[in-house]
Amino acid sequence: MAKVILKANIKNRIKNGHPWIYENEIERVEGNYEDGDIVDIFYHSLDFLGKGYINSKSKIRVRLLTRKNLKIDKEFFTNKLKKILSIKRKLVKDTEGFRVVFSESDGLPGLIVDKFGNYLIVQIGSLGMEKLKKYIIDALVEVLSPKGIYEKSDYAAREREGLKVFRGWIYKNGPELIEFKMNGLTFYADTLGQKTGFFLDQRENVQLIKDFAENKEILDVFSYTGNFSVHALKYGAKHTILVDYSKRALEIADITLKKNGFKRKYELINANAFDFLRKLQKEGENLFDVVILDPPAFAKSYDDIKKAYRGYKEINLRAMKLLKEAGILITASCSRVVTEQDFLVVLYDAASDTKKNLQILQRGAQPPDHAPTLNIFETFYLKFFIFKVDYIKNY
Ligand code: SAH
Repeated sequence: MAKVILKANIKNRIKNGHPWIYENEIERVEGNYEDGDIVDIFYHSLDFLGKGYINSKSKIRVRLLTRKNLKIDKEFFTNKLKKILSIKRKLVKDTEGFRVVFSESDGLPGLIVDKFGNYLIVQIGSLGMEKLKKYIIDALVEVLSPKGIYEKSDYAAREREGLKVFRGWIYKNGPELIEFKMNGLTFYADTLGQKTGFFLDQRENVQLIKDFAENKEILDVFSYTGNFSVHALKYGAKHTILVDYSKRALEIADITLKKNGFKRKYELINANAFDFLRKLQKEGENLFDVVILDPPAFAKSYDDIKKAYRGYKEINLRAMKLLKEAGILITASCSRVVTEQDFLVVLYDAASDTKKNLQILQRGAQPPDHAPTLNIFETFYLKFFIFKVDYIKNY
Protein backbone atom coordinates (compact mmCIF):
# COMPACT_ATOMS: atom_id res chain seq x y z
CA MET A 1 0.00 0.00 0.00
CA ALA A 2 1.38 3.41 -0.98
CA LYS A 3 2.19 5.96 1.70
CA VAL A 4 1.26 9.62 1.45
CA ILE A 5 3.36 12.00 3.52
CA LEU A 6 2.04 15.50 4.15
CA LYS A 7 4.00 18.74 4.12
CA ALA A 8 5.22 20.22 7.40
CA ASN A 9 3.64 23.65 7.21
CA ILE A 10 0.06 22.82 6.25
CA LYS A 11 -2.88 24.51 7.95
CA ASN A 12 -4.68 22.85 10.86
CA ARG A 13 -7.74 22.00 8.75
CA ILE A 14 -6.84 18.32 8.32
CA LYS A 15 -5.73 17.90 11.93
CA ASN A 16 -9.03 19.47 12.95
CA GLY A 17 -11.16 16.82 11.31
CA HIS A 18 -11.48 17.85 7.67
CA PRO A 19 -11.19 14.77 5.42
CA TRP A 20 -9.77 16.35 2.24
CA ILE A 21 -6.09 16.47 1.37
CA TYR A 22 -5.27 18.75 -1.55
CA GLU A 23 -2.44 18.02 -3.96
CA ASN A 24 -0.42 20.99 -2.64
CA GLU A 25 -0.55 19.63 0.91
CA ILE A 26 1.33 16.46 -0.02
CA GLU A 27 5.12 16.32 0.22
CA ARG A 28 5.60 12.92 -1.37
CA VAL A 29 3.99 9.59 -2.15
CA GLU A 30 6.06 6.48 -1.49
CA GLY A 31 5.25 3.30 -3.40
CA ASN A 32 3.05 2.59 -6.38
CA TYR A 33 -0.65 3.11 -6.59
CA GLU A 34 -3.48 3.24 -9.07
CA ASP A 35 -6.09 5.96 -8.94
CA GLY A 36 -8.84 5.05 -6.49
CA ASP A 37 -6.59 2.87 -4.32
CA ILE A 38 -6.51 3.01 -0.54
CA VAL A 39 -3.37 4.65 0.84
CA ASP A 40 -1.84 5.15 4.30
CA ILE A 41 -1.45 8.80 5.22
CA PHE A 42 1.18 10.24 7.52
CA TYR A 43 1.89 13.69 8.94
CA HIS A 44 5.28 15.19 8.12
CA SER A 45 6.48 13.91 11.51
CA LEU A 46 5.64 10.42 10.13
CA ASP A 47 2.94 10.01 12.77
CA PHE A 48 0.07 8.00 11.33
CA LEU A 49 -2.91 10.15 10.24
CA GLY A 50 -5.30 7.66 8.69
CA LYS A 51 -6.43 5.86 5.56
CA GLY A 52 -8.17 7.19 2.52
CA TYR A 53 -8.39 6.86 -1.21
CA ILE A 54 -6.22 8.66 -3.72
CA ASN A 55 -6.95 10.06 -7.17
CA SER A 56 -4.29 11.86 -9.20
CA LYS A 57 -7.00 13.30 -11.49
CA SER A 58 -8.61 15.22 -8.65
CA LYS A 59 -7.34 18.39 -6.93
CA ILE A 60 -8.60 16.79 -3.75
CA ARG A 61 -5.88 14.17 -4.04
CA VAL A 62 -6.87 12.06 -1.01
CA ARG A 63 -10.11 11.73 0.94
CA LEU A 64 -9.86 10.25 4.40
CA LEU A 65 -12.04 7.30 5.33
CA THR A 66 -10.71 6.70 8.81
CA ARG A 67 -8.17 8.01 11.29
CA LYS A 68 -7.69 4.53 12.73
CA ASN A 69 -5.53 1.79 11.32
CA LEU A 70 -8.46 -0.26 10.04
CA LYS A 71 -8.82 -2.52 7.04
CA ILE A 72 -11.22 -0.97 4.53
CA ASP A 73 -13.54 -3.87 3.79
CA LYS A 74 -17.16 -4.91 4.19
CA GLU A 75 -16.83 -4.91 7.97
CA PHE A 76 -15.57 -1.32 7.90
CA PHE A 77 -18.74 -0.22 6.09
CA THR A 78 -20.99 -2.41 8.22
CA ASN A 79 -19.64 -0.83 11.40
CA LYS A 80 -19.89 2.69 10.00
CA LEU A 81 -23.49 2.14 8.90
CA LYS A 82 -24.50 0.73 12.25
CA LYS A 83 -22.97 3.71 14.04
CA ILE A 84 -24.67 6.23 11.75
CA LEU A 85 -28.03 4.49 12.05
CA SER A 86 -27.91 4.23 15.83
CA ILE A 87 -28.16 8.04 15.92
CA LYS A 88 -30.35 8.68 12.86
CA ARG A 89 -32.97 6.14 13.87
CA LYS A 90 -33.60 8.21 17.02
CA LEU A 91 -33.62 11.60 15.32
CA VAL A 92 -35.55 10.89 12.15
CA LYS A 93 -39.27 10.44 12.70
CA ASP A 94 -42.52 9.85 10.81
CA THR A 95 -40.85 8.96 7.57
CA GLU A 96 -39.95 5.97 5.46
CA GLY A 97 -37.60 8.25 3.54
CA PHE A 98 -34.33 9.54 4.98
CA ARG A 99 -30.66 9.95 4.10
CA VAL A 100 -28.73 7.02 5.52
CA VAL A 101 -25.31 8.29 4.42
CA PHE A 102 -24.55 11.98 3.92
CA SER A 103 -21.09 11.67 2.42
CA GLU A 104 -18.26 13.58 4.18
CA SER A 105 -20.50 14.58 7.08
CA ASP A 106 -21.13 10.92 7.92
CA GLY A 107 -17.47 10.03 7.43
CA LEU A 108 -17.91 8.44 3.99
CA PRO A 109 -16.68 10.97 1.39
CA GLY A 110 -18.15 10.43 -2.06
CA LEU A 111 -21.08 8.28 -0.93
CA ILE A 112 -24.73 9.16 -0.57
CA VAL A 113 -27.38 6.63 0.37
CA ASP A 114 -31.07 7.48 0.62
CA LYS A 115 -33.68 5.04 1.91
CA PHE A 116 -37.18 5.10 0.45
CA GLY A 117 -39.42 2.46 1.99
CA ASN A 118 -37.63 -0.84 1.51
CA TYR A 119 -35.40 0.41 -1.30
CA LEU A 120 -32.10 2.25 -1.35
CA ILE A 121 -30.82 4.76 -3.86
CA VAL A 122 -27.06 5.31 -3.82
CA GLN A 123 -24.86 7.93 -5.45
CA ILE A 124 -21.17 7.31 -5.85
CA GLY A 125 -19.22 10.47 -6.58
CA SER A 126 -15.60 9.35 -6.54
CA LEU A 127 -13.36 6.71 -8.05
CA GLY A 128 -12.23 5.59 -4.59
CA MET A 129 -15.79 4.80 -3.54
CA GLU A 130 -16.50 3.22 -6.92
CA LYS A 131 -13.71 0.72 -6.26
CA LEU A 132 -15.25 -0.10 -2.87
CA LYS A 133 -18.72 -0.61 -4.32
CA LYS A 134 -18.87 -4.35 -3.67
CA TYR A 135 -18.16 -3.84 0.05
CA ILE A 136 -20.70 -1.03 0.20
CA ILE A 137 -23.48 -3.10 -1.37
CA ASP A 138 -22.74 -6.10 0.85
CA ALA A 139 -22.74 -3.91 3.97
CA LEU A 140 -26.00 -2.18 2.98
CA VAL A 141 -27.64 -5.55 2.38
CA GLU A 142 -26.45 -6.86 5.74
CA VAL A 143 -27.45 -3.82 7.78
CA LEU A 144 -30.66 -2.70 6.03
CA SER A 145 -31.94 -5.82 4.18
CA PRO A 146 -33.31 -3.75 1.27
CA LYS A 147 -35.59 -5.19 -1.40
CA GLY A 148 -33.40 -3.53 -4.01
CA ILE A 149 -30.56 -1.03 -4.43
CA TYR A 150 -30.56 1.45 -7.32
CA GLU A 151 -27.44 3.37 -8.27
CA LYS A 152 -28.10 6.87 -9.51
CA SER A 153 -24.63 8.19 -10.21
CA ASP A 154 -25.70 10.50 -12.99
CA TYR A 155 -24.18 13.82 -12.06
CA ALA A 156 -21.44 15.84 -13.72
CA ALA A 157 -18.96 15.81 -10.80
CA ARG A 158 -18.16 12.18 -11.65
CA GLU A 159 -16.43 13.26 -14.83
CA ARG A 160 -13.87 15.25 -12.83
CA GLU A 161 -12.98 11.94 -11.16
CA GLY A 162 -12.62 10.19 -14.50
CA LEU A 163 -15.88 8.27 -14.03
CA LYS A 164 -18.78 7.79 -16.41
CA VAL A 165 -22.35 8.46 -15.43
CA PHE A 166 -24.29 5.36 -14.49
CA ARG A 167 -27.77 4.49 -13.42
CA GLY A 168 -29.44 1.17 -12.83
CA TRP A 169 -30.35 -1.50 -10.28
CA ILE A 170 -27.20 -2.92 -8.70
CA TYR A 171 -28.91 -5.25 -6.23
CA LYS A 172 -32.11 -7.06 -7.16
CA ASN A 173 -34.80 -5.00 -8.88
CA GLY A 174 -37.51 -2.50 -8.11
CA PRO A 175 -40.06 -0.09 -9.54
CA GLU A 176 -39.30 3.04 -11.56
CA LEU A 177 -41.20 5.10 -8.98
CA ILE A 178 -40.49 4.04 -5.43
CA GLU A 179 -43.44 4.76 -3.15
CA PHE A 180 -42.80 5.84 0.43
CA LYS A 181 -44.62 7.56 3.28
CA MET A 182 -43.44 10.80 4.81
CA ASN A 183 -45.23 13.00 7.34
CA GLY A 184 -48.32 10.84 6.83
CA LEU A 185 -48.39 11.46 3.05
CA THR A 186 -47.43 9.32 0.07
CA PHE A 187 -44.53 10.32 -2.17
CA TYR A 188 -42.45 8.76 -4.95
CA ALA A 189 -38.71 8.70 -5.44
CA ASP A 190 -38.21 8.83 -9.19
CA THR A 191 -35.34 6.58 -10.27
CA LEU A 192 -35.26 8.56 -13.53
CA GLY A 193 -35.65 11.92 -11.82
CA GLN A 194 -33.27 14.43 -10.27
CA LYS A 195 -30.58 13.77 -7.65
CA THR A 196 -31.58 10.65 -5.67
CA GLY A 197 -35.14 10.90 -7.00
CA PHE A 198 -36.62 12.95 -4.18
CA PHE A 199 -35.40 15.93 -2.13
CA LEU A 200 -35.45 14.60 1.42
CA ASP A 201 -33.62 17.60 2.82
CA GLN A 202 -36.78 19.74 2.98
CA ARG A 203 -38.65 17.07 4.98
CA GLU A 204 -38.73 19.08 8.22
CA ASN A 205 -38.95 22.51 6.61
CA VAL A 206 -42.12 21.60 4.68
CA GLN A 207 -43.78 20.95 8.03
CA LEU A 208 -43.10 24.55 9.05
CA ILE A 209 -45.62 25.76 6.46
CA LYS A 210 -48.42 24.19 8.49
CA ASP A 211 -49.39 27.47 10.16
CA PHE A 212 -49.44 29.45 6.93
CA ALA A 213 -51.44 27.26 4.56
CA GLU A 214 -55.06 27.12 5.67
CA ASN A 215 -57.44 28.54 3.04
CA LYS A 216 -54.55 30.09 1.15
CA GLU A 217 -53.85 30.61 -2.54
CA ILE A 218 -50.34 29.26 -3.07
CA LEU A 219 -47.73 29.58 -5.80
CA ASP A 220 -45.11 26.81 -5.59
CA VAL A 221 -42.21 27.68 -7.87
CA PHE A 222 -39.52 25.06 -8.63
CA SER A 223 -41.99 22.49 -7.35
CA TYR A 224 -40.28 19.31 -8.60
CA THR A 225 -42.74 16.48 -7.75
CA GLY A 226 -44.87 18.60 -5.43
CA ASN A 227 -43.42 18.14 -1.94
CA PHE A 228 -44.40 21.64 -0.77
CA SER A 229 -47.80 21.69 -2.49
CA VAL A 230 -48.86 18.29 -1.17
CA HIS A 231 -48.00 19.43 2.35
CA ALA A 232 -49.75 22.80 1.85
CA LEU A 233 -52.95 21.03 0.73
CA LYS A 234 -52.75 18.66 3.67
CA TYR A 235 -52.55 21.72 5.92
CA GLY A 236 -55.72 23.11 4.36
CA ALA A 237 -54.61 25.30 1.43
CA LYS A 238 -57.39 26.33 -0.93
CA HIS A 239 -55.42 25.98 -4.16
CA THR A 240 -51.83 25.68 -5.35
CA ILE A 241 -50.07 26.35 -8.63
CA LEU A 242 -46.95 24.25 -9.25
CA VAL A 243 -44.30 25.57 -11.64
CA ASP A 244 -41.39 23.55 -12.96
CA TYR A 245 -39.57 23.28 -16.27
CA SER A 246 -39.34 19.51 -15.94
CA LYS A 247 -42.36 17.91 -17.56
CA ARG A 248 -41.59 14.61 -15.90
CA ALA A 249 -41.44 16.18 -12.43
CA LEU A 250 -44.91 17.64 -12.99
CA GLU A 251 -46.28 14.31 -14.22
CA ILE A 252 -45.11 12.71 -10.99
CA ALA A 253 -46.47 15.67 -9.00
CA ASP A 254 -49.83 14.96 -10.64
CA ILE A 255 -49.69 11.28 -9.61
CA THR A 256 -48.63 12.27 -6.08
CA LEU A 257 -51.34 14.91 -5.61
CA LYS A 258 -54.05 12.53 -6.84
CA LYS A 259 -52.75 9.66 -4.72
CA ASN A 260 -53.07 11.88 -1.64
CA GLY A 261 -56.64 12.80 -2.54
CA PHE A 262 -56.16 16.40 -3.68
CA LYS A 263 -58.06 16.47 -6.96
CA ARG A 264 -59.04 19.79 -8.58
CA LYS A 265 -57.11 21.80 -6.00
CA TYR A 266 -54.05 22.44 -8.10
CA GLU A 267 -52.73 23.54 -11.45
CA LEU A 268 -49.50 22.36 -13.09
CA ILE A 269 -47.49 24.80 -15.15
CA ASN A 270 -44.62 23.57 -17.23
CA ALA A 271 -42.49 26.68 -17.70
CA ASN A 272 -39.24 28.39 -16.99
CA ALA A 273 -39.75 29.97 -13.59
CA PHE A 274 -38.03 33.23 -14.52
CA ASP A 275 -40.23 33.73 -17.59
CA PHE A 276 -43.34 32.66 -15.76
CA LEU A 277 -42.80 35.00 -12.81
CA ARG A 278 -42.13 37.88 -15.20
CA LYS A 279 -45.29 37.13 -17.15
CA LEU A 280 -47.45 36.81 -14.02
CA GLN A 281 -46.18 40.07 -12.71
CA LYS A 282 -47.21 41.84 -15.93
CA GLU A 283 -50.72 40.51 -15.36
CA GLY A 284 -50.86 42.05 -11.89
CA GLU A 285 -49.56 42.23 -8.37
CA ASN A 286 -51.04 41.05 -5.05
CA LEU A 287 -52.13 37.72 -6.50
CA PHE A 288 -51.10 35.15 -3.88
CA ASP A 289 -51.25 34.61 -0.14
CA VAL A 290 -48.14 32.44 -0.17
CA VAL A 291 -45.26 32.11 -2.63
CA ILE A 292 -42.76 29.26 -2.29
CA LEU A 293 -39.35 29.43 -3.97
CA ASP A 294 -37.14 26.35 -3.77
CA PRO A 295 -34.77 26.68 -6.72
CA PRO A 296 -31.82 24.45 -7.60
CA ALA A 297 -28.34 25.62 -6.56
CA PHE A 298 -27.76 28.74 -8.68
CA ALA A 299 -24.04 28.70 -7.81
CA LYS A 300 -22.01 25.50 -7.90
CA SER A 301 -18.76 27.31 -7.16
CA TYR A 302 -17.46 30.75 -6.18
CA ASP A 303 -17.03 31.55 -9.89
CA ASP A 304 -20.74 31.94 -10.42
CA ILE A 305 -21.66 33.53 -7.13
CA LYS A 306 -22.55 36.92 -8.65
CA LYS A 307 -24.84 35.27 -11.15
CA ALA A 308 -26.44 33.34 -8.30
CA TYR A 309 -27.09 36.54 -6.31
CA ARG A 310 -28.79 38.02 -9.39
CA GLY A 311 -30.93 34.90 -9.78
CA TYR A 312 -31.98 34.84 -6.12
CA LYS A 313 -32.70 38.55 -6.19
CA GLU A 314 -34.83 38.34 -9.32
CA ILE A 315 -37.09 35.49 -8.22
CA ASN A 316 -37.49 36.80 -4.67
CA LEU A 317 -38.20 40.32 -5.86
CA ARG A 318 -40.89 39.08 -8.21
CA ALA A 319 -42.36 36.86 -5.52
CA MET A 320 -42.55 39.83 -3.13
CA LYS A 321 -44.51 41.77 -5.76
CA LEU A 322 -46.88 38.89 -6.40
CA LEU A 323 -47.77 38.58 -2.73
CA LYS A 324 -50.84 40.18 -1.21
CA GLU A 325 -50.33 42.52 1.76
CA ALA A 326 -49.07 40.52 4.77
CA GLY A 327 -48.36 37.64 2.41
CA ILE A 328 -45.99 34.81 3.17
CA LEU A 329 -42.73 34.25 1.32
CA ILE A 330 -41.21 30.81 1.75
CA THR A 331 -37.75 30.92 0.26
CA ALA A 332 -34.78 28.58 0.18
CA SER A 333 -31.26 28.40 -1.18
CA CYS A 334 -29.29 25.20 -1.51
CA SER A 335 -26.15 26.80 -2.99
CA ARG A 336 -23.32 25.75 -0.74
CA VAL A 337 -21.21 28.80 -1.60
CA VAL A 338 -23.99 31.26 -0.71
CA THR A 339 -23.93 31.70 3.07
CA GLU A 340 -27.01 32.41 5.13
CA GLN A 341 -25.79 35.96 5.66
CA ASP A 342 -25.24 36.46 1.90
CA PHE A 343 -28.70 35.11 1.19
CA LEU A 344 -30.31 37.47 3.71
CA VAL A 345 -28.46 40.42 2.19
CA VAL A 346 -29.83 39.52 -1.25
CA LEU A 347 -33.34 39.27 0.19
CA TYR A 348 -32.92 42.63 1.94
CA ASP A 349 -31.85 44.11 -1.39
CA ALA A 350 -35.00 42.77 -3.08
CA ALA A 351 -37.12 44.01 -0.17
CA SER A 352 -35.64 47.47 -0.49
CA ASP A 353 -36.35 47.61 -4.26
CA THR A 354 -39.95 46.54 -3.70
CA LYS A 355 -40.38 48.78 -0.60
CA LYS A 356 -41.33 45.78 1.49
CA ASN A 357 -40.72 44.83 5.08
CA LEU A 358 -39.59 41.25 5.72
CA GLN A 359 -40.15 39.69 9.11
CA ILE A 360 -38.67 36.24 9.71
CA LEU A 361 -41.44 34.03 11.13
CA GLN A 362 -39.65 30.70 10.81
CA ARG A 363 -36.22 29.53 9.75
CA GLY A 364 -35.10 26.08 8.76
CA ALA A 365 -31.93 24.24 7.89
CA GLN A 366 -30.74 20.71 7.11
CA PRO A 367 -32.54 17.93 9.01
CA PRO A 368 -30.54 15.54 11.23
CA ASP A 369 -30.13 12.94 8.47
CA HIS A 370 -28.32 15.66 6.46
CA ALA A 371 -26.58 17.10 9.53
CA PRO A 372 -23.66 19.34 8.63
CA THR A 373 -20.34 19.10 10.45
CA LEU A 374 -18.73 22.24 11.83
CA ASN A 375 -15.24 20.96 11.02
CA ILE A 376 -16.22 20.48 7.36
CA PHE A 377 -17.84 23.76 6.39
CA GLU A 378 -18.64 22.44 2.88
CA THR A 379 -21.35 20.25 4.43
CA PHE A 380 -23.56 23.30 5.12
CA TYR A 381 -25.78 24.16 2.18
CA LEU A 382 -29.48 24.59 2.91
CA LYS A 383 -31.00 27.93 3.95
CA PHE A 384 -34.74 28.23 4.51
CA PHE A 385 -36.91 31.14 5.67
CA ILE A 386 -40.56 31.96 6.07
CA PHE A 387 -41.19 35.72 5.93
CA LYS A 388 -44.19 37.90 6.45
CA VAL A 389 -44.04 40.47 3.66
CA ASP A 390 -45.81 43.83 3.75
CA TYR A 391 -45.32 47.37 2.52
CA ILE A 392 -43.01 49.49 4.64
CA LYS A 393 -45.48 52.36 4.23
CA ASN A 394 -48.17 50.34 6.00
CA TYR A 395 -46.21 50.15 9.22
N1 SAH B 1 -39.28 21.98 -3.95
C1 SAH B 1 -38.86 20.68 -4.42
C2 SAH B 1 -37.43 20.63 -4.89
C3 SAH B 1 -37.07 21.58 -5.96
S1 SAH B 1 -35.61 21.17 -6.79
C4 SAH B 1 -39.07 19.64 -3.33
O1 SAH B 1 -39.15 19.98 -2.15
O2 SAH B 1 -39.12 18.47 -3.68
C5 SAH B 1 -35.55 22.37 -8.03
C6 SAH B 1 -36.56 22.19 -9.14
O3 SAH B 1 -36.46 23.33 -9.98
C7 SAH B 1 -36.34 20.99 -10.05
O4 SAH B 1 -37.53 20.26 -10.13
C8 SAH B 1 -36.01 21.58 -11.44
O5 SAH B 1 -36.61 20.86 -12.51
C9 SAH B 1 -36.63 22.94 -11.33
N2 SAH B 1 -36.01 24.01 -12.11
C10 SAH B 1 -34.70 24.33 -12.19
N3 SAH B 1 -34.52 25.46 -12.91
C11 SAH B 1 -35.75 25.87 -13.29
C12 SAH B 1 -36.24 26.98 -14.04
N4 SAH B 1 -35.42 27.90 -14.54
N5 SAH B 1 -37.57 27.07 -14.23
C13 SAH B 1 -38.41 26.15 -13.71
N6 SAH B 1 -38.00 25.10 -12.99
C14 SAH B 1 -36.70 24.96 -12.78
